[in-house]
Amino acid sequence: TSFASLPLKPALLASLDTLGYAAMTPVQEQSLPPMLAGRDVIAQAQTGSGKTAAFGLSLLQSIDADTIRLQALVLCPTRELADQVSKAIRKLAANIPNVKLLTLCGGMPLGPQLASLTHDPHIVVGTPGRVQEHLKRGSLHGGGIKVLVLDEADRMLDMGFSEAIDDIVGRIAKHHQTLLFSATYPDEIRAVSARVQRDPVEVTV
Ligand code: AMP
Repeated sequence: TSFASLPLKPALLASLDTLGYAAMTPVQEQSLPPMLAGRDVIAQAQTGSGKTAAFGLSLLQSIDADTIRLQALVLCPTRELADQVSKAIRKLAANIPNVKLLTLCGGMPLGPQLASLTHDPHIVVGTPGRVQEHLKRGSLHGGGIKVLVLDEADRMLDMGFSEAIDDIVGRIAKHHQTLLFSATYPDEIRAVSARVQRDPVEVTV
C-alpha cells in the first residue's frame, strides 16, 4: 500500500517521494494507522523493518513547527542509534520549514548541549540518562511533549535504563502518546508497557 492512503501532511508525502519510498513496509502498514489516530502502539520490530520511518512520520505529523516547544522525545539505547534516528527524521522533515531537532547523548560534553538548549527544540532524540539529566536541571522542558518514543526498548532495559525511563515519564506532560518499539517481548517489556502505555495497539510482523 502506498503512503498516499494515510492522513499525512503534503510535506511528508513529498519527503517520501524524494526518498523513493513507494510502498509501506509491513510494520509501517500496521503501525501507522493507529499511530496517526493518536493511539499508543507497542510494536515488535527489528532493525531493517522500517520502524524509524514509522515513528518518525507519526511524530512529524503531530508536531506544530510554529510552536516553539519540545513536542516529541525519542529515547534510544546508544549514541550510534540516536545519530541514525536523528538523520532519518531530518530527511523526513526536509520539507517542513523550521523544524528544530537536537540529539542529546551521554558521553558528550554538557556545555554545547546547554548552549543549544537556550530555545527548546521541537524534537529531541537522545539516550535516557542524558535526557533525564536535562529534564532534572531544567535545561529541557517536558510539559509540551505530545509523543514519546521508546526505540529498541529491550536494549534500553538491558543497559539498565529502566529507572531513567520511569523518571523521564514522570517529568513530561501527563497526556502524551507513547510508541514502544522492541525486537523482543520479554516480561520486562510487557511491564514497561503496562507502566507507561494506555490501551496500546499491538503490532507484530
Ligand atoms: P529501519 O528499520 O528503521 O532501520 O529502516 C531500515 C531501512 O529501510 C532504512 O535504510 C530506511 O531508509 C529504509 N526504509 C524505510 N521505510 C522504507 C520504505 N517504505 N520503502 C523503502 N525503504 C524504506
